[in-house]
Amino acid sequence: PSPTRNRKLCVVGFRAVGKSAVTFQFCEDRFVDTYSPTIETSFRKSVKNVPVEIVDTAGMDEYSLFQPQHAIGVDGYILVYAVTARSSFEILKTINDKILNAHGSDKVPRVLVGNKTDLEVERQVSSAEGNALASEWGAPFIECSARTGKGVQEAFEACVAEIMRKEGGWEEK
Ligand code: GDP
Repeated sequence: PSPTRNRKLCVVGFRAVGKSAVTFQFCEDRFVDTYSPTIETSFRKSVKNVPVEIVDTAGMDEYSLFQPQHAIGVDGYILVYAVTARSSFEILKTINDKILNAHGSDKVPRVLVGNKTDLEVERQVSSAEGNALASEWGAPFIECSARTGKGVQEAFEACVAEIMRKEGGWEEK
């Protein structure tokens, strides 16, 4: 696989799970509280020496969970839920199905990410549940907090590692 070709990562999940906050924390190293755009934003950044474009999807509600156009040219997905919102976890199962359908493959590189771990007292989804779903998918599972930054970098790096691994011939350094 070419290490220099641009890879496209798509951050998906129910509204208010922190897609924008996680993306912003990773790309700009800070937490933005009221960023939440209803427009789609994209960032460029190098992840483990691989240039990536990160697309923060917007406007996902019950009626437009994942549009097939989001799949065009996308190499990997970061599926985000909030550990404080069980519904956001449940809905990822549907979003995952839509992604696999859109690509016509179950080998799509994906990472399952549970955000908002700083709100431990409000937790509704256990780490064990996250882990179980990720193993079902054969995907890495990472918990993070866009607020503190903990785990955010790992999430994006895991996604790039998955992309490279599935393309084959890439050794983790
Ligand atoms: P999006 O709709 O999925 O893009 O979600 P946003 O990034 O707009 O975040 C939704 C709300 O959750 C905002 O008020 C954020 O400040 C808040 N938020 C996002 N990530 C975290 C986090 O890790 N911890 C806490 N405490 N709040 C967060």
